Amino acid sequence: MNSRRDFLQKVSLGLGVTALSSLPATANTIPEPFVRPEKQLRVALMGLGGYAGIVAEAMQNCKMATLVGLVSGTPSKIDTWKQKYNIPEKNTYNYENVGDIKNNPDIDMVYITTPNSLHHKHVLQVAAAGKHVLCEKPVADNARQTREMIAACEKAGVKFYIGYRMHFEPHTRELIRMREAGELGKIMHVNNYMGFKSGDPNQWRLKKALAGGGAMMDVGVYALNGARYATGEEPIWVTAQESKTDPVKFKEVDETITFQLGFPSGVIANCGTTYAFNNCERLYVIGDKGFVELSPAFGYGPIKGRTHLGPMNQPVVKHQTLQMDGIADIILNNKPDPNVTGQEGLKDMIVVDAVYESIRKGGQKIFINKA
Ligand code: NAD
Repeated sequence: MNSRRDFLQKVSLGLGVTALSSLPATANTIPEPFVRPEKQLRVALMGLGGYAGIVAEAMQNCKMATLVGLVSGTPSKIDTWKQKYNIPEKNTYNYENVGDIKNNPDIDMVYITTPNSLHHKHVLQVAAAGKHVLCEKPVADNARQTREMIAACEKAGVKFYIGYRMHFEPHTRELIRMREAGELGKIMHVNNYMGFKSGDPNQWRLKKALAGGGAMMDVGVYALNGARYATGEEPIWVTAQESKTDPVKFKEVDETITFQLGFPSGVIANCGTTYAFNNCERLYVIGDKGFVELSPAFGYGPIKGRTHLGPMNQPVVKHQTLQMDGIADIILNNKPDPNVTGQEGLKDMIVVDAVYESIRKGGQKIFINKA
């Protein structure tokens, strides 16, 4: 249970809402045949690794998004995935000819699931091909790259979203609703953790050139993004501390980081992230009228929650199914952008930059400059 793969395999056992909604109302009712809506967002996956596999499976239950294309540098993977997901040869690309996707009217969006430090290059390529972009977290190595990615997508007139799947997850949605409705009162404190024990010492996640950083980049962004949606505010200062119990394995990247975010209201979020131990996944937001605690809070779930009123009874869902249908609905039906835009990724990366700067400066308080 120690490796990243084990973590990835903790996929929700629950049915997606689409599957739930197609269940018969009673045992005697004949279920309606599933009819795909006329408009669907046609998606190509770029980087056919572990997470792409989870997304591809989840998309089998999507109503509004459909997997139609593949980008990979490994021909054997293209062959296997083509067969498995019934993808036409004309919709398959490698990293050299991916620019040709601009001539393919059958692909609307490319979902980038390559290692972190390749996101910048790949987003620029997809934007230049005139296709909408969905990019995995962390959006990039730093805020500077993220600004370039946003500018490239704006110039190309394409949407740019980040795979912040928690924004489509029901417990998280309910937390945000309660906070916005004032049911928690004035937010007084936030305490978020997200980490796990990293396995294989040779994986790209431990190489700075491909990962950009360590636990902070990979899963610390959940604790950070969670602090922003738990407060509804943007941090104005950051302090951070790093500890390393295995300086050999974590020679290139951070192992454990604690960080504090100061918000304009005076609230402080105390957050942590690690690659060194398990059982580290919690969001706790406390207001002067109530609280929400999610634990687990950020993994594939099942997400569990309780509030000052008792247990949260929200459906258990497949996050990636909801995310892909949610993004398809927004793009196809011109709905307002959700909190998963490139701009939201930028807000997080500005803080990540400040976390690393604070550590470099011995824990000094770094004031956030949004310019
Ligand atoms: P992975 O190693 O399983 O897959 C990465 C894929 O990129 C592989 O197919 C690999 O062949 C390909 N690739 C292309 N160029 C490469 C290169 N130069 N070096 C190495 N690999 C290269 O990793 P993963 O777990 O699927 O993670 C991919 C991305 O998805 C990361 O950015 C990660 O943060 C993100 N992710 C997000 C979630 C989530 O819940 N949102 C979960 C897991 C991973």
